[in-house]
Amino acid sequence: MTSSIRLDYNEFFQSKVDALKADGRYRTFATLERIAGQFPKALHHSPDGSIKEVTIWCSNDYLGMGQNPVVLEAMHTAIDNSGAGAGGTRNISGTTKYHVDLENSVADLHGKEAALVFSSGYTANEGSLGTLAKLLPDCVIYSDALNHASMIHGMRSSGAETKVFRHNDVEHLEELLKATDVRRPKIIAFESVYSMEGDIAPIAEIIALAEKYGAMTYLDEVHGVGLYGPRGGGVAEERGLMHRVDIVEGTFGKAYGLVGGYIAGSKPVIDAVRSFASTFIFTTSLPPAILAGAYASVEYLKNSSIERQRQRNNVAHFKKILNRDGLPYMQGESHIVPLVVGEATCCKMLTDILLNDYGIYVQPINYPTVPKGTERMRLTATAAHTLEDVYKFTGILKDLWEQNHLQHHAAVA
Ligand SMILES: *Cc1c(COP(=O)(O)O)cnc(C)c1O
Repeated sequence: MTSSIRLDYNEFFQSKVDALKADGRYRTFATLERIAGQFPKALHHSPDGSIKEVTIWCSNDYLGMGQNPVVLEAMHTAIDNSGAGAGGTRNISGTTKYHVDLENSVADLHGKEAALVFSSGYTANEGSLGTLAKLLPDCVIYSDALNHASMIHGMRSSGAETKVFRHNDVEHLEELLKATDVRRPKIIAFESVYSMEGDIAPIAEIIALAEKYGAMTYLDEVHGVGLYGPRGGGVAEERGLMHRVDIVEGTFGKAYGLVGGYIAGSKPVIDAVRSFASTFIFTTSLPPAILAGAYASVEYLKNSSIERQRQRNNVAHFKKILNRDGLPYMQGESHIVPLVVGEATCCKMLTDILLNDYGIYVQPINYPTVPKGTERMRLTATAAHTLEDVYKFTGILKDLWEQNHLQHHAAVA
C-alpha cells in the first residue's frame, strides 16, 4: 500500500543522470595516483583495474609545489607536533597558531592589514561576497559575465542586486555604473586570470572605474597567486595595483599545491566577514598539516622565482609551437592554454586517444563549464614539465589535428 505512493527515488535520480549522459555532459573522473617527486607523471587507474603511467597536462599544481620538499617537510613536522585535526570550528577551540601564522603571511603577501583563511577558495568567495553584499544596505554588485560559480553563488545568497557586465568589457561596466544611483554601495567582483579562457582582466581600468564611481573591488586571484608578481602576490602585484584593490581572494589549492582559500583586505572588512560569514563560522577549521604546508608554500614562493621562471619558459615554448603549427588555442596573456575543439563528443574522443594511445591525461572541458560549441582542452604547462615533455605533447597534438582533420587557425607570426 505505502510502496505504491512512494516515488521511485532511485529511478528519478537515475533519469536525471541519464539526461546528462544523453547530452554528452556526464562527468567521468580519472583516478590518478600522484607520486611525490614524479609529478607531472602519475599512475592512472582504469575502471578495468589496469594501471598505466601518464603525464598530466591539465593540473593546477602549476609550480609543482604539491611535491616541494620544503612543503612536505613542514607538513610532516606539523603532524608530529600537533596531530591530525584542528579539533573544532575557528570559534570553538579550532583556531591554532598555524591559522594565525598563515593569515599574517597572506596579509603580508598582499600588503593588506588582515586576512582570513577558509576551507577552500570556493567557500571564501561564497562567504565573503555573500556577507559583504548582504551587510551593505541596498548594495549593487557588478559581476563579470565569466565569474566563477563560487562568486555567483555568493552574490545570489547575499540577495543583493547583481548587474552582469560583458566579460572584461570596461565600457559596459561603466555604462552599468553610470546608470546606478551614486549613493548606493557598490562592489565590483572580477577575476585576474580567467581559468577557462586564459585571459587576464583589465585590472587597472576596472580599479579606475571603481574609484570614479565609489565602488569596492573584489578580485579573485585564484589563478594568479604564487605565479605572478615578484613575491607571488598575483597579477595585481605584478602590475603594481595591489594597494588599490580592496579585497583580494586566493586559494592554496592551485599554485600553492595544497587546499584552502582566503581573503585579504582592511581590518574592518576582514573582521566583518569573520563575524558574519556562515561558510567561515560553522565549519571545522583546516588541520595543522595543511596550514603548515600552505604557510611553507606561500613563504617559499615569496622568495623563490625559479619555479615561476621554469613555468613561464615552458608555457612560452608550448604556445610558440602551437602557434607555429596553427593549433587553435585561445590567445590569452596567461599561463592557461585552452585548445578549442568545439564539439563535446570530439573533445572526449581526443582526450581518450591521448590517454589510451599516448599516456597523456587531459580532461575535456564541456558545457556547462564552457558554452556549447567552444568545448576545449584546458592545457597547463607546469614548472615540473620538461621541454622534452612540451616537444612530445605538441608533436602528438599536431598529428592528432591532422589525422582527424580538425580546424587550424592561421599561424600567428
Ligand atoms: C578553483 C577556483 C576557485 C575555487 O577555489 P578552490 O580553492 O578550488 O575552492 C575560485 N575561483 C576561481 C576562479 C577558481 O578557478
